[in-house]
Amino acid sequence: MAEGLLYDKLDGQRVRCNVCLWRCVINPGKAGVCGVRQNENGTVKPVNYAKVSSVAADPIEKKPLFHFFPGSSVLSFGGIGCNYHCLHCQNWEIACAEEPDKLLKGMREISPDEAVRMAKSRKCTGLAWTYNEPVIWLEYTLDSARLAHENGLYTAFVTNGYATPEALDLLGPHLDAWRVDVKGFSDKLYRDLAKISNWRSILEVAERARHKWNMHVEVVTNIIPTMNDDDEQLSGIAHWIKEKLGELTPWHITRFHPYREMAHLPPTPMSTLEKAYKIGTKAGLRFIYMGNVPGNAHENTVCYNCSKIVIERTGYNTRVAGVKDSCCAYCGADLNIRSSLKTGVMK
Ligand code: SF4
Repeated sequence: MAEGLLYDKLDGQRVRCNVCLWRCVINPGKAGVCGVRQNENGTVKPVNYAKVSSVAADPIEKKPLFHFFPGSSVLSFGGIGCNYHCLHCQNWEIACAEEPDKLLKGMREISPDEAVRMAKSRKCTGLAWTYNEPVIWLEYTLDSARLAHENGLYTAFVTNGYATPEALDLLGPHLDAWRVDVKGFSDKLYRDLAKISNWRSILEVAERARHKWNMHVEVVTNIIPTMNDDDEQLSGIAHWIKEKLGELTPWHITRFHPYREMAHLPPTPMSTLEKAYKIGTKAGLRFIYMGNVPGNAHENTVCYNCSKIVIERTGYNTRVAGVKDSCCAYCGADLNIRSSLKTGVMK
């Protein structure tokens, strides 16, 4: 296993990991908050390199990414560990790596070469790192993303966004999409839900992904009753997207399902999702989608200029009905749809 990237050596064989915004100071023999970056004799070892907990060919819409290679199939990889500890985590078996060494023993190893081969043989158009937080898998995702691009495959991160600018800048040349969760818009929300304090840095890193690295960005907010369903937070997210990422950036508002330590809360009422939709529309967002509500009217992509359906979705069945070169095939309006690998960056 290679030495980790992005860390400082401190006195007494301690290290500071600079991969995510925790910037953990790790004592010898210990691991950071994520559990998978360990201090071995004063150097960082990413014990999760190439260790895969799950791999599946998914519709890209499942990430969800709606304006990125619509209708394509993506080979999705999950590892172990997470830098968040969300109360309602759906993937806690792999995300809570309290005893990573035990988990790692039974895990499959898939090299970057093998990942690319698998994607091609399964007729996937790209690779995605998802299911748990990919930034803590930095070295592996970086090697894989580089190789994917060399082989004409797209690359996507499904992330909580809590990466450092330095980690983003390493990934930047090789990553096409940054699908980021913005879980709320207040100190209290991030503290209560995920024990995170400097959440505003997530916004800055997402802006950097968009503007410095020309990544395609889509934002997801899971709306949780009593926690982030107030007008102030929803409006804060919507206005931030509009002002910093642009009005054509998709915003996915998804329904919360009671689970684990948040099983006492109700599922998100439809009226709350409709309220969020209106708030987003009022803020000027052109593409707002509702998730976890099968059969709802806000799954399709509708041209904001001529009102025609340009991408039709029923569950994970996608039909591209009217898109030409990222624009509406009927009226020519820009739809912000990425269907080719990134070329160049905006520095
Ligand atoms: S990736 Fe984040 S959580 Fe993990 S050791 Fe580094 S700074 Fe800590």
